[in-house]
Amino acid sequence: MSKKIILSGMQPTGHLHLGNYEGALKNWVALQDEYEMYCCIVDWHALTADFDKTPEFPDRVFEVAVDYLAAGLDPEKCSIFVQSHVKEHAELHLLFSMITPIPWLERVPSYKEKSLELGLDSYGFLGYPLLQAADILVYRADFVPVGKDQLPHIELTREVARRFNTLYGNVFPEPEAKLTKFAAIPGIDGKKMSKSYGNDITLADSSEETGVKLKKMFTDPQKLRRGDPGRPDICPVYALQKVYNSDHQALFRPCSTGELGCVDCKKVLIERLNDALADLRARRAELIAHPDQVRGILRQGAERARRRAGETMILVREAMHLD
Ligand code: SF4
Repeated sequence: MSKKIILSGMQPTGHLHLGNYEGALKNWVALQDEYEMYCCIVDWHALTADFDKTPEFPDRVFEVAVDYLAAGLDPEKCSIFVQSHVKEHAELHLLFSMITPIPWLERVPSYKEKSLELGLDSYGFLGYPLLQAADILVYRADFVPVGKDQLPHIELTREVARRFNTLYGNVFPEPEAKLTKFAAIPGIDGKKMSKSYGNDITLADSSEETGVKLKKMFTDPQKLRRGDPGRPDICPVYALQKVYNSDHQALFRPCSTGELGCVDCKKVLIERLNDALADLRARRAELIAHPDQVRGILRQGAERARRRAGETMILVREAMHLD
């Protein structure tokens, strides 16, 4: 029996961080044995905000590819590729743009939020979720691993697939969201970890850099010195202890009574986190030392992706009488 298909992707923002790793990459690695995976680096999506930073793109794409591989994605099991190397995404996006009412795009929650937050008002930005629909449907994917915030995008993809199928005949399955459960990863300021907040710990950080960042990490603001009782439940350091320290419960009481100081608590976390990332960092260093190997994997991944996307576009053109 052929495997079900999964499409997933991330923007080439540069170095991926612990939030990306725990929230997505680890999950993709776990799925690659069971599914036919297409793992994309979505550089066209990055243009919506960074259209004036394209000279940075080659390095940023390379870094994300390295992070994908270092995290454990296996190019023998999944196709790892760059979105702009598979032009079929763009063709399908254009065709979808002819059958998608503009209000469908305007009502995607992230459109209003982000256009206000980032001041984006381009045609490409409005069409971003439709390009995402094309990314998914060009592989006729069955599942897309996402967080809850992405559900409206998957719903739009399903609506577009339905509309196409109604107009031209059944070509697309309606993909389902594969919701991933993962622990929230706070940044060093306690907010959600994000490159744009400058609060991230990246997969490229050395153990020393990670230590320096964690030493600065926010804690319970009421616990100013050892002896003050702390509240682990609201402490971002403890949130990371829960992910990286299997003995985290042993710290709960000493923190609450004040017996444990934040400096010592952080020392434990630094050690545990660096241990957890040791293998990934070793693979990263190996990959950085062999850039041609990484580029070869992206080329091979794009070839495989083009095969599947090309088959879809033959079906699409036939259905639309454009062949
Ligand atoms: S001791 Fe640890 S868990 Fe408690 S407040 Fe300090 S850093 Fe947070």
